[in-house]
Amino acid sequence: QEEINRYRNQNSISVVGRRIPNPARSFDDFSVDQSIIKNLIKCGYEEPTPIQKQAVPIMLEGRQLLACAPTGSGKTAAFLVPIIQQLKSPQNSGFRALILCPTRELASQTQRECVRLSEGKGFRIHILSKINKALNQYGPKSNQKFDILITTPNRLCFLLKQDPPAIQLSSIQWLVIDEADKLFEDGSRSFRDQLDQILQACDNKDKKIAMFSATHTPVVAKWCVHNMPGLVRVTIGQRNA
Ligand code: ADP
Ligand code: MG
Repeated sequence: QEEINRYRNQNSISVVGRRIPNPARSFDDFSVDQSIIKNLIKCGYEEPTPIQKQAVPIMLEGRQLLACAPTGSGKTAAFLVPIIQQLKSPQNSGFRALILCPTRELASQTQRECVRLSEGKGFRIHILSKINKALNQYGPKSNQKFDILITTPNRLCFLLKQDPPAIQLSSIQWLVIDEADKLFEDGSRSFRDQLDQILQACDNKDKKIAMFSATHTPVVAKWCVHNMPGLVRVTIGQRNA
């Protein structure tokens, strides 16, 4: 334990929560398929960043997570790697992972990284680009041949508001909220209302939530404490940076 604390300190990792999995020291420490490690190396990555070292083992154990780490510190792969591992292979049961991003540009970037990291798996990774096409693409009569959805909350809520809803989220196992500080900021309650609507649609009782943020924001932390049982908090670097 002493050794693990020292390793966390060296990597500026601080953690809050009960029975927190140990950080990984290398990609080989990740309990993931060799193909995923190969894809990480193909991206030119040599070792995991601090947030990846600590967040990947936590999410692989199915623990809900609030992660704060600076911009550019590799948060995208930190949540994509465990999701890609846990989804195993394509299934025709509708979306099983949902990633919410504040902008469409960020959604596209995240999709590109997801495609690279899951190469060889055959996942169907969608972003909601043409909203008129989306209205007909995902409904109850579709073949549900999709695995991962990456979108802004606005577009998703537009589909959910249709009668009947133009998309099903009952198979969602992981909900990731990326750049949570930005999504929650906006002043108004709008994102929290959208999140309530999205969570109602994600009605699989084993669903897990992971939040990623560049800054420590009290409103985000408060929301997590109230809505994420068994929460683990990970902060990289200064708590108030
Ligand atoms: P964040 O979301 O924390 O701002 P990103 O996930 O966008 O950061 O990653 C920032 C950059 O670092 C990207 O170009 C990404 O490809 C790269 N990156 C991610 N993980 C690693 C790693 N383990 N080693 C080297 N570069 C990495
Ligand atoms: Mg990011």
